[in-house]
Amino acid sequence: MLDIRVEKAAVKKAKPAEDSLGFGRYFTDHMFVMDYDAGLGWHDARIVPYGPVALDPSAMVFHYAQELFEGLKAYRREDGKIQLFRPDKNIERMNNTCKRMCVPTIPPEDALQAIRALVKVDQDWVPHSAGTSLYIRPFIIATEPQLGVHPSKKYSFMIILSPVGSYYAGGLAPVKIRVERKYVRCVKGGTGEAKVGGNYAASLLGQEEAEEMGYAQVLWLDGIYRKYIDEVGAMNVFFVIDGKVVTPSLEDGNILPGVTRASCIELLKKWGYPVEERKVSIDEIHAAYENGTLSESFGTGTAAVISPVGEYNDNGYIMKIHDGKIGPISQKLYDSLTDLQWGRVKDEMGWIVPVEE
Ligand SMILES: *Cc1c(COP(=O)(O)O)cnc(C)c1O
Repeated sequence: MLDIRVEKAAVKKAKPAEDSLGFGRYFTDHMFVMDYDAGLGWHDARIVPYGPVALDPSAMVFHYAQELFEGLKAYRREDGKIQLFRPDKNIERMNNTCKRMCVPTIPPEDALQAIRALVKVDQDWVPHSAGTSLYIRPFIIATEPQLGVHPSKKYSFMIILSPVGSYYAGGLAPVKIRVERKYVRCVKGGTGEAKVGGNYAASLLGQEEAEEMGYAQVLWLDGIYRKYIDEVGAMNVFFVIDGKVVTPSLEDGNILPGVTRASCIELLKKWGYPVEERKVSIDEIHAAYENGTLSESFGTGTAAVISPVGEYNDNGYIMKIHDGKIGPISQKLYDSLTDLQWGRVKDEMGWIVPVEE
């Protein structure tokens, strides 16, 4: 059990209108902070007013990007109670990322306690409107003030909260995706399976070039053969080929092991769909498109839940998926996951964790 000191904000902010929240633009009144020093371990857990952080300009995070993050949500049910979706999965993944980035891990029960305590303090910020939620962003930064290249001896673990709007204001809208042939997101042996800012920094240029062409995201191919599919933007990707649900496997370490991805696989298997986790090449997608067996494709992630793909553009070769409309499997997964997340159905999967017991 952490001993969390709470310092309440003297002045509370005005809350933004729930119909114009967007994603990650507003932040709540408080934040969680805990420090780490070599020899002392994690210490000084506190909830304090949200505000700027003072760091030495030589703090290692600014130079060598020793940093990692997580993303999950708190949902308000119809009865007003607030719940989390599989937070244990995010915490486990955060600690796996810590190990890859030479960052000290955090006891899972402490991380969960910190998330719950902060959401409870700022519970009025969990929005009420349909499709809205409170996005939870835990992150760890290296704060040791020096420029030698080695793992930092000091860190801060912080959690900030942001009320977010419904991703799909006008219903589940399929997105257009550009197959990325120039840049890669990661290579085997790199940090593809770690949730780190560096991966995102490296992805921005490809994303920007795709946007200039009118595409929402890019489809990342592997860095060695440049043909196996990794992810779509910052989401995991699924295809329905010949009635089977196919998604790239995690074994090469190129892919971020999404909580939404794992949940979709578990639900599909429970419903009796054939699911294959394996290598999927872009050539296979072309072939399936040409012989008419590619019936659906969608991305999965906490922010959008399910993001149907309406079109892939591979160097000018256009593959329209399901007539540019959402397919039945995408819709069923979206409905089932969101019913669980907002507490509209009984949780038979054991995935829901209430913020307060
Ligand atoms: C966070 C993330 C995902 C989605 O993971 P979820 O746990 O489902 O939100 C997928 N790909 C990348 C690169 C990510 O950072």
